[in-house]
Amino acid sequence: MQIVLIKEDKYLYDIHSLYKAFYPEQDVKVLLTSDTEKCKEVMDANPDAEISEVDVSVSKNQLKKDTYLKLSEKTGKKLPWGNLTGIRPTRIIMNLIEEGKSDKEIIDHMRNQYCVSDEKIDLSLKIAHREKDILKDIDYKNGYSLYIGIPFCPTTCLYCSFTSYPIGAFSGIVDDYISCLEKEIDYVAEEFKGKTLDTVYIGGGTPTTLEPNQLERLIGYLKDKLDFSKVKEFTVESGRPDSITRDKLKVMKKMGVTRISVNPQTMRDETLKLIGRRHTVDQLVSSFNMAREEGFDNINMDIILGLPGEGASDVAYTMSKIAELAPDDLTVHSLAIKRGSKLAEIMDQTRQRTKNNLSDSNNSETGYLDEINNTVEMMEIASKGARDMGLEPYYLYRQKNISGNFENTGFARKGKAGIYNILINEEVQSIVALGAGTVTKRVYGFDGRIERCDNVKDVKLYMEQVDEMIKRKWKLFL
Ligand code: SF4
Repeated sequence: MQIVLIKEDKYLYDIHSLYKAFYPEQDVKVLLTSDTEKCKEVMDANPDAEISEVDVSVSKNQLKKDTYLKLSEKTGKKLPWGNLTGIRPTRIIMNLIEEGKSDKEIIDHMRNQYCVSDEKIDLSLKIAHREKDILKDIDYKNGYSLYIGIPFCPTTCLYCSFTSYPIGAFSGIVDDYISCLEKEIDYVAEEFKGKTLDTVYIGGGTPTTLEPNQLERLIGYLKDKLDFSKVKEFTVESGRPDSITRDKLKVMKKMGVTRISVNPQTMRDETLKLIGRRHTVDQLVSSFNMAREEGFDNINMDIILGLPGEGASDVAYTMSKIAELAPDDLTVHSLAIKRGSKLAEIMDQTRQRTKNNLSDSNNSETGYLDEINNTVEMMEIASKGARDMGLEPYYLYRQKNISGNFENTGFARKGKAGIYNILINEEVQSIVALGAGTVTKRVYGFDGRIERCDNVKDVKLYMEQVDEMIKRKWKLFL
């Protein structure tokens, strides 16, 4: 364990994130020296902990740089993203471009202030320019985008922390759920009358757990109530191949959906089973081919690096299988151990057992968790594989507790980049979000300030409280 002592209640999150990035396998506690009781309690409980002190009397940027350099020297490690702890490194670069800084000035700044590696500077600079180029034809500051969450999935994936309910047990409430979404759509139609709707994204969960008639009902209502004449992109995440049927694809195509995703995560059947996806690679391939046959010319795929038991050769294999399908857009994720996921729960239990010196060797359910790891080599294989398919990086973001402290990157063919992904990632446009567990964001055009309001996560509570969810949005957009 790492214990970090500070004298003032400042920058806790940044200090914790930096220490965690250098010591991912250890618990990190940041404690205020004035809270003597707490300090004593934690130190007594962890006599082997390494204790250090951080001076928080300097500016935040200085503190992060000093701490990074100190930890880098101590551990002999360099982090690809240096001392950046935020999740949107390209935003910093976008802002610098907007301030009129040259590429050289930006490179120097990222290197000297944040200690970012040359490779990541190059990647994020290219992405920032590409994003600006993609957004230049969109009057995004005066428009808005719409997100609709469908919180049902065929089964729950091991690493999932989204709002997701197994459709088998919840199919009986889907029609009423759609009625609640319709109420929210009525609100949007009134509140945003006369405003340009730029992009629409139906995500989740898995929207294609809806039956064809339910999909038709929802999209039909949307198109009836809202002006779609300027919509540049209409995505429906069809993530789980085990939820895709030809009838659903036909409905989506007929209703004007322009972009879908069919997500493998890995092309190894054994891993799919381990992570609870309950679909096979064959199913993925036939769903993808079916989507092509039905005329979808913008199909995204997601993969995850660092899945249990997978190494570089598995990533290479997955990339070679994906190349055979030639998707238009590929998002490469690093596995994030998210609080609330089954994976985080199992890992906590495993750590606890290890701490108590209880062997895990007989536990076939958790033994593979020792093998969760993402590496530079795996990232390079995925990135090269994407480029070899003719895809270029166009957005990236980082997450907390991401495997190997890497990033998630979206790659796309020219003209196929997901515009919604850029808008939400760069936080440059208001996004109205409907459905259980979704978060609406208002971006104030004049100063870039952002305010949020969320819908409750529990699906039944959401349905009971939908009027209150609408009221929250009214207030936000007053
Ligand atoms: S498909 Fe996505 S939302 Fe559904 S359980 Fe898996 S990770 Fe969660």
